[in-house]
Amino acid sequence: MTAAPLPGLEDLGDIAGASVLVRADFNVPLRSGEIADDLRIRAGVPTIGWLRGRGASVVVCAHLGRPGGRPDPAWSVEPVRARLNGLVEGVELLENLRFDPGEEADDPAFTDGLIEGCDFYVNDAFGVSHRPHASIVGPPRFLPSAAGRLLAREVEVLGGMRHPPRRPFVAVLGGSKVSDKLGAIEALLEVVDTLVVGGAMCFTFLKARGHAVGSSRCEDAMVERCRALLDSGADIRLPHDIVALGPGGRLGRPDDAGEVRHTGPDLGDGWVGADIGPGSAAAFGDVILDAGTVFWNGPMGVFEDPRFAAGTGAVAAAAAETRAYTVVGGGDSGAALAGLGLAGEVDHVSTGGGASLELIEKGDLCGLAALRGAPNAR
Ligand code: ADP
Ligand code: MG
Repeated sequence: MTAAPLPGLEDLGDIAGASVLVRADFNVPLRSGEIADDLRIRAGVPTIGWLRGRGASVVVCAHLGRPGGRPDPAWSVEPVRARLNGLVEGVELLENLRFDPGEEADDPAFTDGLIEGCDFYVNDAFGVSHRPHASIVGPPRFLPSAAGRLLAREVEVLGGMRHPPRRPFVAVLGGSKVSDKLGAIEALLEVVDTLVVGGAMCFTFLKARGHAVGSSRCEDAMVERCRALLDSGADIRLPHDIVALGPGGRLGRPDDAGEVRHTGPDLGDGWVGADIGPGSAAAFGDVILDAGTVFWNGPMGVFEDPRFAAGTGAVAAAAAETRAYTVVGGGDSGAALAGLGLAGEVDHVSTGGGASLELIEKGDLCGLAALRGAPNAR
């Protein structure tokens, strides 16, 4: 990171008796109203505990899901509040920020209401720090502010990917849309030794290399940019075999009639590439095992469907086994790793998918810049 350091908790000075507004990322997955994974809530505890331990009263604000700017009981933070109160006592959690359109619009009146009665602001919500929302960029305009422990650690680790600790540095990118991640891929190509591409996005690269992609997800508007990257001489590894679903089959419906075939990199009409093949999975695994630093973002296939989970499983297993310094960029890849019980086997699982990619791409996030502009940091 070239930017100035972030103000940290210690820079707040004496907070005894003060009221601290903490923006947390408690956007946990819910299943029938129950918290399916409380990682994000637990990850917020060190900062809140630190503030409480120094005599501050803590008001936490967070969002849950995408209620679209109006109250929706389905997205009430009540289950989060119950879980949080079980972890730390005496902490207030405000209702879902996104029940008000002012949050996503960065409405100054909404910020005014949020900071009322508060003396300090702490951002510990890495996963939303790339969003110019009121609770992220608003309070630091007025209150002495700091990065919480989780945010500081995420910035250190993900920001550090631009200067990998050990080589070779291998980035493994997958997931759904190449257009979402191409900026990060281009930035990563400046620092990695090898880029491994799987997931739906590999089909745009395979098409750029002249392969037939059948009915696989492919972004035609991105083919030229992918071709330029392939022609640049960078070490980019694409799958040489694919697990594909035949015409008429449906992803996520294993009971359906669709035929599943292991093929080479050229797919017939109507066939959908849904996972990297076992040969590619083994090759990708070897690259990961031989790496000094690994950054992984995005599953290798439609891992939610057991027919197409093997490629992601192989990459997760290699990420767990390698002696490389290994960072997983959150979102679905983090969920896949956790689902396999391997989250504890890597060095860092980010709580933010989009935020981690944007930090790698741009070296900064609007929420971090806001903290650096706070009255105590200017
Ligand atoms: P992350 O959250 O880790 O950044 P993304 O959100 O970009 O990952 O992508 C995850 C989604 O990509 C998953 O829902 C997965 O099913 C989907 N996906 C992966 N490979 C394919 C593929 N070959 N075809 C269609 N969807 C895919
Ligand atoms: Mg995702």
